Amino acid sequence: MLLRALIFLLCLIVGGLTGWWANKQFLFDDGLGVGVALGGVIWFLMDAVGAVRVLAYLRVIGSNEPRGIWGIWNEVFSRSRRLLRDRDRLLAESQRRLQDFLSAFQVSPNGVVLLDSQSRIEWCNQTATHHFGIMAQRDLAQVIGNLVRDPGFIAYLSSRDYQRSVTMPGRETSSSRPVLLSVQLHPYGDGRTLLLSRDITALEQADAMRRDFVANVSHEIRTPLTVLAGFIETLQTLELADSERQHYLGLMAQQSTRMQTLVNDLLTLSRLEGSPAPDLSCWISLTQLIAQIRQDAMSLSTMITAEQRSPHKLIFDESCDVELAGNLSELLSAMSNLVSNAIRYTPAGQVITVSTSLTSGGGLVFSVTDTGPGIAPEHLGRLTERFYRVDRSRSRETGGTGLGLAIVKHVTQRHAATLTLESTLGKGSMFRIDFPQERVRVVN
Ligand code: ADP
Repeated sequence: MLLRALIFLLCLIVGGLTGWWANKQFLFDDGLGVGVALGGVIWFLMDAVGAVRVLAYLRVIGSNEPRGIWGIWNEVFSRSRRLLRDRDRLLAESQRRLQDFLSAFQVSPNGVVLLDSQSRIEWCNQTATHHFGIMAQRDLAQVIGNLVRDPGFIAYLSSRDYQRSVTMPGRETSSSRPVLLSVQLHPYGDGRTLLLSRDITALEQADAMRRDFVANVSHEIRTPLTVLAGFIETLQTLELADSERQHYLGLMAQQSTRMQTLVNDLLTLSRLEGSPAPDLSCWISLTQLIAQIRQDAMSLSTMITAEQRSPHKLIFDESCDVELAGNLSELLSAMSNLVSNAIRYTPAGQVITVSTSLTSGGGLVFSVTDTGPGIAPEHLGRLTERFYRVDRSRSRETGGTGLGLAIVKHVTQRHAATLTLESTLGKGSMFRIDFPQERVRVVN
């Protein structure tokens, strides 16, 4: 400010001196006063040029920087430029942050929709597009209630009570593949709301499976328990002959064995689900495995067909002597289950073939083929579900729990193997496990 005043004074003095000199030279009247006034006008013009240049720069920010300005206008220009640069930097920084936030919301597995105070869409992410079929650009400023027409959601939206979430079908839902969403609104700011949606289809399915499982287990245990309780009551209340007593005790033993088998199968399944998959460190001799399976198969066949006096024709076709990497008891359980099913469902006297062979790629194929009743195609896809049975009474008669093939499926998956079922109604079935090459090694 001092410099500005000095320059102003200097202009007046120079103007005054020039006027005084002109007065002397050219005999002007009042040359001094005119000179001072001219000095003031020149100062004003020089100052105005600086002001106009700075103003022009500020009006169109980013235009050419003003040249030839000095004094206070130069300082105004430098300070404004610094402020503008700081503002631009801050703006860029907040833009970057906003983009980071939006990118984070974009990759969220949950649907995110930002709504204004009138429930109009301000922004939504990709997942919300999948969930509701809305699009950030196309549906901007549209009222969400006009686009998401589920009655449950509409009622929830208008209730203004967002303490709980609401469950509704997703846009991609179909009768064969239902999609279920959990949607909740969270108020924020001045009347705005954040809508979050979550795909809970898998959770609901797991919950339904758990409920079914508990119901199935309870049902499976309740039946033999009811029978046992009935026999106990009979034994307690009736005077029975020794032979009748023995008969009832035999039936009771059968029921308790059935419960025992069921509990054992359940424990096997839970062990399979709760432990890590067997690695490649433990190698098992296939010959010994098959010898054990053969022995069990022969005893089972003899026991089941004892009344008909003609056991099954069991053929064991072992063409290879290899070792398998895996867990002995799991492999034994899976392979024996397939052989025991073949024996239990195939009529006495018929042929059952158990074969093992190496594939050209070095893998191993274990297969059990029977000439039993076969299975209708509509059941094949569901056989490995827990408690799924084609013929309930036949399964129970032969001591089945409905868990055998579920165990086989688990064991094969844990050994990176695949289970294949082929069956023709009235002709027989073939169950086959394909072990990958890395789990098989040829014995020298
Ligand atoms: P289960 O203990 O009832 O045998 P599984 O899980 O082992 O239970 O088998 C499921 C169902 O698959 C059986 O109830 C039976 O209906 C059918 N099944 C399995 N193996 C055979 C087979 N070899 N022949 C015909 N049906 C079979």
